[in-house]
Amino acid sequence: MNPHNAPSSPLIRLSDYRAPAWRVERVELDFDLGIDASEVTARLHLRRDPSQQAPLRLDGEGLELLSIALDGKPLDAGSYRLSDSALEVDGAQDGSVLETRVRLLPAANTALEGLYLSGSRETGFLLTQCEAEGFRHITFFPDRPDVLASYTVTLHADRERFPVLLAGGNPDGAGNLEGGRHWARFVDPHPKPSYLFALVAGRLEKIERDYVTADGSDVKLVIWSEANVIDRCHYAMDALERSMRWDELAYGRNYDLDVFHVVATHDFNMGAMENKGLNIFNAKYLLADPDSTTDDEYRAVEAVVAHEYFHNWSGNRVTCRDWFQLSLKEGLTVFREQQFSADMNSPSLKRIEDVALLRRAQFPEDAGPLAHAVRPSQYSEINNFYTATVYEKGSELIRMLAGRLGSEGFRRGMDHYFERNDGRAATLEDFLGALGEANQTNLSPYLAWYAQAGTPRLKVRGDYDAARREYTLTLSQHTLATSGQPEKLPLPIPVKLALFARDGRMLPLHMDGHASEGQVEWVAVLDKAEQRFVFRNVDAEPVPSLLRGFSAPVILEGNSTPTELALLLRHDVDGFNRWEAGQQLAVSAYEALRDGGDDGAIVAWCEALSALFADGAVDDALLAELMTPPGEVELAEREHEVDPDRIHAWRQALQHRLATRIGANALQQRYQALAAAASGRLDANSQAQRRLKRRVLELMALLDTDDAQALAARQYEQAPSMTDRLAALTVLVRTDAPQAAAAIAHFRGRYADNPLALDKWFNVQTQRRGAASLARIQELERDPSFTLRNPNRVNALFGAWARNNPAGFHQADGGGYRLLSERLGQLDALNPQIAARLATAFNGWRRLEPVRRAQAKAAILSLAERPGLSRNLTEIVQSMLHD
Ligand code: ZN
Repeated sequence: MNPHNAPSSPLIRLSDYRAPAWRVERVELDFDLGIDASEVTARLHLRRDPSQQAPLRLDGEGLELLSIALDGKPLDAGSYRLSDSALEVDGAQDGSVLETRVRLLPAANTALEGLYLSGSRETGFLLTQCEAEGFRHITFFPDRPDVLASYTVTLHADRERFPVLLAGGNPDGAGNLEGGRHWARFVDPHPKPSYLFALVAGRLEKIERDYVTADGSDVKLVIWSEANVIDRCHYAMDALERSMRWDELAYGRNYDLDVFHVVATHDFNMGAMENKGLNIFNAKYLLADPDSTTDDEYRAVEAVVAHEYFHNWSGNRVTCRDWFQLSLKEGLTVFREQQFSADMNSPSLKRIEDVALLRRAQFPEDAGPLAHAVRPSQYSEINNFYTATVYEKGSELIRMLAGRLGSEGFRRGMDHYFERNDGRAATLEDFLGALGEANQTNLSPYLAWYAQAGTPRLKVRGDYDAARREYTLTLSQHTLATSGQPEKLPLPIPVKLALFARDGRMLPLHMDGHASEGQVEWVAVLDKAEQRFVFRNVDAEPVPSLLRGFSAPVILEGNSTPTELALLLRHDVDGFNRWEAGQQLAVSAYEALRDGGDDGAIVAWCEALSALFADGAVDDALLAELMTPPGEVELAEREHEVDPDRIHAWRQALQHRLATRIGANALQQRYQALAAAASGRLDANSQAQRRLKRRVLELMALLDTDDAQALAARQYEQAPSMTDRLAALTVLVRTDAPQAAAAIAHFRGRYADNPLALDKWFNVQTQRRGAASLARIQELERDPSFTLRNPNRVNALFGAWARNNPAGFHQADGGGYRLLSERLGQLDALNPQIAARLATAFNGWRRLEPVRRAQAKAAILSLAERPGLSRNLTEIVQSMLHD
């Protein structure tokens, strides 16, 4: 039987929230650490809510209770009750101290939740992961975020096997013990919820830096990793320092402990974790070096380091009352990270990447059977709600609020929010209330965005009246029903807009009764089902540029003509809007090509891009993005009967038209120029050149495949960076080049000792096209370095295949579905969180064409019928089957 299987899976409802009947004011934890077994003594100093009568009930799962005492007296078996998820104790009073001692089995913990072992029994180290409900796997405790306690943690372990002992908070003594053992104590002065508890113990190396906060405190920054990768931690240290400075400047937030520890592990369920004073990172988001890290990965390391650091205020100092408020910390922290990354890099590229991610990951979620509100109203397993909706859409909601208040008003509101809620467990109402109060405005209409699932569709019609010199925009909104939410309300949708003259200049805006007089950009707020906005003194029919900067997370259903979109693509001064116009035009072009429709959009797209390609008016990185049509996942979102093979083929055909229009010679020349300038440098311009070079090579491969393959093979051999090396390898694999096998073998040999690079080796091979992809996956999973026990490896193989290679995964005979379903069943017994997340790759199954749909359904059903599925996987599978 699956050890993670919960016997009953009740639904948890937001409307059932009650304040805790018992709180823990202070907790003293003593750990006796061992790889196979560890023992934990917990002393809970209890507080009772006088208005509630409930008995003392503590969460606890998979714990072997060794002893229990209340106020110093051992309890007899009659005065407590132990179930497989809770401990109920009689006789506790306000002020009582409950002491329990439990035994845990870290090495047997494959779920990577609670206390577990990273790496081998001989050389690995111990660590914890507690968000969301992992602390109950460590000790008996009211494991809910609204119980804030002061922690004193003492670790005891064998000195030789565990030379480094770390926990959250400030160090408070250490020393040697008899028998080769030692101890270390940490005290956290800031009360915190149990999900922010952490410890690490083992053989680790460190790099350090002294930091002085803006308000004058000394902080020791320390990054820890296993010895062989400690040299790859320097970039993260720099990113950490930049993040700390930025939060001081942008939000006036200073760090608040004497030490800030960061630890890298290869065995981790997510990206990273913001434990107070002891952040733990998936090595993928911490380690970086020029030989094995791509440009995109460098940016991801910077972003994740910043994200976790920013949680120290948005999440830790102000935490969540309950898990329904998860976006209170995650949406806000994603938004803060997005602002930071925009400041550190190119703002328009950052916005392009974030919107592309939203469309690729969140829109499909919002349109499928797993759709849920940013603040869901119910869940069975909270780990299933760390989603693109809670994170990415949540960030878009903050962005709308920030736009609504303006940067000064938003800062004022944030200051007020932090001040008023510091040390508290807050709700989204507290957040909106504080922002509104500081700005004398009522933001509660925005709460509807938090409660309503589904992506609103924004319809736009523009009418020009030449006689009256008036231009009227009619905006209307509509949100499709989602599971459990048949009726949808109109939401406040800020539509930032500008009007362009046909010569590409922006027009001053004249409207009645609005403060827009003479501005070129203005925000129309649509808060009804339909509204009209009239612009006066317009001399000729303008070209509207709508939803500028992606001012709201909606699907724009405009009626702009290809000529109008091409004008924006050529002339809009804002890099993001330029890209957006190009994306809309590319969609029209794609649909025209597929449906054999009018050539207008195709020609307009190709002409505009070939002009931009030739005249060098935009930066290389932006040009590369402009020349990339929406991905296959995004295109599939627009269809009712999805055939991934056809989408792939038509998208290729569209790019072929572009390559043809630009011309083989022009592409070749640009490639040679970029190749001649190749370096391993990390500055923005070098990164931009690599990005464009990759795009050009991909387009070349559509025209003269042999030629492009020869260039790719040479690029692979001579590459001064991982970015160039991996780009070349990807082209070789995707075009099934004769040179591919040798390059793959070479890569394997070169990076045999680097698990993160080996993940890329798996990942790139999942991109083989057509039926060959399934066979390749089956070979790869027999590779000795493949294991279902490591989340990064699982994602590098099955995640990359199912999500990034739709035409490979969605084989018409269902072979891909059956393989994934089979592996999900096995994976679930080891790590339910990872299994449940991977299972969401089936999310879009209902919109597949009938043959694939039947195959997918059969595969999901066979998974659903497996005995002993975890609560995590059960919830995902049942939601996907539910109609
Ligand atoms: Zn986060």
